[in-house]
Amino acid sequence: MFDHRKLGRELGLFDTDSLIGPGLPFWLPDGAAVRQSLEDFVRALERRAGYRHVYSPVLGKRELYELSGHWAHYRDDMFPPLSMGDSDDDQLVLRPSLCPHHAVMFRSRAHSYRELPLRMAELGGMYRSERSGVLGGLTRVRAIQLNDAHIFCTLDQVAGEARGALELIAVAYRAMGIVPSRYRLSLPGPGGKYVARPELWERATALLVEVLDGLGVPYEEGVGEAAFYGPKIDVQVVDGAGRESTLSTVQVDFHQPEQFDLHYVGPDGARHRPVMVHRAIVGSVERAVAQLIEQHGGAFPAWLAPVQLAVLPLGEEQDGAARELAARCLELDLRAEVLGADRGSLGARVREARLAPYQVVLGPREVADGTLGVRLRDGRRLDPLPAGEVLARIERQVRAHTVELW
Ligand SMILES: [Zn+2]
Repeated sequence: MFDHRKLGRELGLFDTDSLIGPGLPFWLPDGAAVRQSLEDFVRALERRAGYRHVYSPVLGKRELYELSGHWAHYRDDMFPPLSMGDSDDDQLVLRPSLCPHHAVMFRSRAHSYRELPLRMAELGGMYRSERSGVLGGLTRVRAIQLNDAHIFCTLDQVAGEARGALELIAVAYRAMGIVPSRYRLSLPGPGGKYVARPELWERATALLVEVLDGLGVPYEEGVGEAAFYGPKIDVQVVDGAGRESTLSTVQVDFHQPEQFDLHYVGPDGARHRPVMVHRAIVGSVERAVAQLIEQHGGAFPAWLAPVQLAVLPLGEEQDGAARELAARCLELDLRAEVLGADRGSLGARVREARLAPYQVVLGPREVADGTLGVRLRDGRRLDPLPAGEVLARIERQVRAHTVELW
């Protein structure tokens, strides 16, 4: 495996600058292409699974986080409040999570039991006040873009929703070519950092155990790894240095619906309290892309690759045809790059294009015949095919979000 910090810089995917600040990476065009493809994929996956997307502000009043419990249990990881005036009412904080905003958004409208499970998703920003000494790459950052969602549902629906979230995680990992190292059932440890009501913790834990047992996936318990408001299933991955971290998570929460006094109207016409299932499919886009870089060494699955088709004209005479081919790719929403003869010998350009999943050399014969001899990244060489057929095939592989090249 690879080190994403080194490779990310070498491949021009992302970088940091001391003037912007440590832990605040910026995404260069090639890295942004990877990230955007991942975000588009996740949003489409969520839409098909019945999620509705929302947007909420990255700031909120301190009071919001006092109510959610973050202020009492999570303050060390939060940036100090921004003071807008001279009273506490005017203190704004950069949010450490999206949950409180989504709870308030649920509360802003009346809900019937017929709307449940209500799946609210947002790829949104959140912030963590890490000390500058530990910051680096995409995994220890101060600004995080989280692939978050909150499912408001009845107690009876919790297990099904948690199972559905784990199934989406499996679909996403298959597409990304990521293999989880293990599943962890994260439980509270000793100490007062968890909110009270032991009977609710037991009930939430029993539901998650039921889901894990039902799926038949092996898991281990992680004592002291729970969120302060509830237990969770963590999907663990191992990075290039052999370190394990959590990429995806599914959590059951009885606490925040109480704190925010959430309710829906049941079939009996009375008010009932929903449960909140928190879940992240690919976790944060920062950590997901870091994992993709380390796992694939920059040779991303075709749907994520910054350059999907590398076009290498043999000489200057084929330059025009190469540009035409790249323009056809653009029309199909495929990312192509022309590496012209001015960029060095053919051998040097083939080496430069080695991470592109599809590579074609355009010589006089290909231009005359309208064919392409495709070279796949894994070394396979295909017989010449009509250009239209090749592009249609590449388009199909990209749309299928598969790790298979052909
Ligand atoms: Zn949440």
